Amino acid sequence: MHLVPNTLGVACIADEVRTVASCEALAASLVDADARGVPVTIVGGGSNLVLRSRLPGLVLLLRIRGVHVERLERRRWRVTVGAGETWHAVVRATLRRGISGLENLILIPGAVGAAPVQNIGAYGRELADVVDSVTVFDRRRELFETLSPEQCGFGYRDSLFKRRPERIIVRVSIILGDRGTMTDYPDVRAELERMGVAASPSTVAEAVVRVRRRKLPDPDRVGNVGSFFKNPLLSVRQYDELRGRLDIAGHPLGHTVKVPAARLIDAAGWKGVRRDAVQVWPQQPLVLVNHGGATGTQVLDLAARIRDDVLARYGIALDLEPTVLGVD
Ligand code: NAP
Repeated sequence: MHLVPNTLGVACIADEVRTVASCEALAASLVDADARGVPVTIVGGGSNLVLRSRLPGLVLLLRIRGVHVERLERRRWRVTVGAGETWHAVVRATLRRGISGLENLILIPGAVGAAPVQNIGAYGRELADVVDSVTVFDRRRELFETLSPEQCGFGYRDSLFKRRPERIIVRVSIILGDRGTMTDYPDVRAELERMGVAASPSTVAEAVVRVRRRKLPDPDRVGNVGSFFKNPLLSVRQYDELRGRLDIAGHPLGHTVKVPAARLIDAAGWKGVRRDAVQVWPQQPLVLVNHGGATGTQVLDLAARIRDDVLARYGIALDLEPTVLGVD
């Protein structure tokens, strides 16, 4: 019996927890477990997981490391990273070398291997903007395969990997250096103004760090998994109806309008609400925190109450962002 590491800080026990640090070790563990019919869960940083009290079977902690930087042109680099590297450390390392492109994505928790799954994004940039290829181990076919960005099927906080969990990401290759800075988001613009500096990759990174530190709880201090709900995408008609009832600003995304889930949760009166050890974070109501001792099920119960209330008031169903695993 072993505890499964997770940033929400809930206790979850698996039959076996094993660290895999190479592609070969990962493939061997998966082939062996599949042959024995043992269920396997892959865990990277454990920063987007809500775990119930027990995970049957084998948990593989994916720790494949390595950062390889290749200069393609004067201001263009290919950076190839093992899935077990920490995303934030990679962002810092590229910026330190004067390589721009990941500044808006600084301080996102989690491992590199998790980044393509939900196509992580923040402040107007997303991983899909920079992906060159993603290498996976395909459990079903028992082989490694390198996929193009098109094959990854990226969408808004979405990818093919969500629907094809048999493909385990072992390496991500990105192209950096050939884009200007992106400062369209009000929070980032306001922070740059407060800092009194012009936009550059390093100042944008610093502004994003300041905004995130102010709004979001540090998972090293308070258990959390970042945003608990996705920002819903509404039809134009749904959006107009909502605007008749609530002062809310949406943003067009294709044929839909993306609206901030945080505004809906706040308007429904949930900001700061605490039930035992679980609280809706007062500075950012999209985040639920575990002050210590909560179970995954208690966190999910509060999330369900918020979801039901927002649905009853505004007719909008909020989807959970983290992955829920395990049984009680
Ligand atoms: P925010 O900056 O207050 O923005 C709230 C909403 O408005 C988001 O849906 C955001 O879209 C949208 N928005 C704001 N300015 C926009 C612009 N100029 N153009 C288009 N859309 C705009 O959001 P927050 O909750 O504090 O989060 C900050 C950033 O971190 C956001 O970009 C959010 O998506 C991101 N984030 C990502 C993840 C993840 O990758 N899983 C988790 C947590 C937060 P977008 O969502 O498209 O940015």
